[in-house]
Amino acid sequence: MSGYRLGLIGDPVEHSLSPRMHAAAFEALGLDAEYVLRPVPGTDRDAVAAAMEELAGSGGGNVTLPHKGRAARALDHATEAVRRTGACNCFWRDEAGALIGDNTDVSAVEGVLAEWLGGREPADVLILGAGGAAAAVAVAAGALSADSIRLANRTPARARRLVGRLRGIGLPARVEPWPVAGTCEVIVNATSLGLSADDPPPASFDRITARLALDMVYVGTRRGDGETAWVDAARSRGIDAVGGLEILVRQGAACYPRWFGLEGPLEALRRGVGMPGENPGSPAEL
Ligand code: NAP
Repeated sequence: MSGYRLGLIGDPVEHSLSPRMHAAAFEALGLDAEYVLRPVPGTDRDAVAAAMEELAGSGGGNVTLPHKGRAARALDHATEAVRRTGACNCFWRDEAGALIGDNTDVSAVEGVLAEWLGGREPADVLILGAGGAAAAVAVAAGALSADSIRLANRTPARARRLVGRLRGIGLPARVEPWPVAGTCEVIVNATSLGLSADDPPPASFDRITARLALDMVYVGTRRGDGETAWVDAARSRGIDAVGGLEILVRQGAACYPRWFGLEGPLEALRRGVGMPGENPGSPAEL
């Protein structure tokens, strides 16, 4: 196909870094493609499937808050990651015309954790939050055969619901009290705390120790490096930390084989969001 027109469906989408991230990658690959924002109000349920149909006809796209669950239900065929999380963030049309969807947040998190672990299985992953991002992290931890997956959420009933769902697909998940304390190997912020400069930290490193802190949240252009204060706090304690921009870039890269049959150009995608182009470091430095 020439003249691809891909896009991001969500509400809100105006703050998104995806257009400039993908523009850098399209240029690097020499693709005749554009990536547009496709706001669909959170209340407009029917419009999600219609917007997906439209974009799928010109190459595919992404879905973000609050529509990932609706997108999953609109598909003709869902990958295992979509079935396990109940959420779709990447869609396209196959050669037979079927609408296919994947959840590339899962592979992005799995990739970061696998690199950091260097081939080991995670002992213990503690997830803050109980929404779509938390589900993606839990499924990624499960794919790496984590011994224990704990979920802590401000609203415990929501954590209990997600834990029930995860146990239903065979993952060793359990609920942890909020706010968290104690020790863990990997702690992941999958709440939306950190998006606003006034937010309290999702967990205090005075109360919890970890070896790796992964923040799903990034602050876009508000800070030069796009990372959150929580990532800084982890690093200041000597904890390895990975910020949400790295997840954004990796979930984006994982869409390229689906959309174009090409490997995702990680360095160009990183450049597009203002990160250094090269891999941020060896696993120990991540
Ligand atoms: P979501 O389904 O709306 O869930 C939001 C979560 O944040 C819930 O667990 C909610 O707890 C919690 N939360 C919100 N405000 C809070 C507060 N004041 N105190 C404590 N907890 C609070 O959102 P999501 O889809 O899971 O996404 C979560 C975050 O991950 C978003 O910032 C999103 O941008 C980010 N994300 C980033 C990437 C990436 O590429 N880097 C990918 C996916 C998601 P309650 O249940 O108590 O409301």
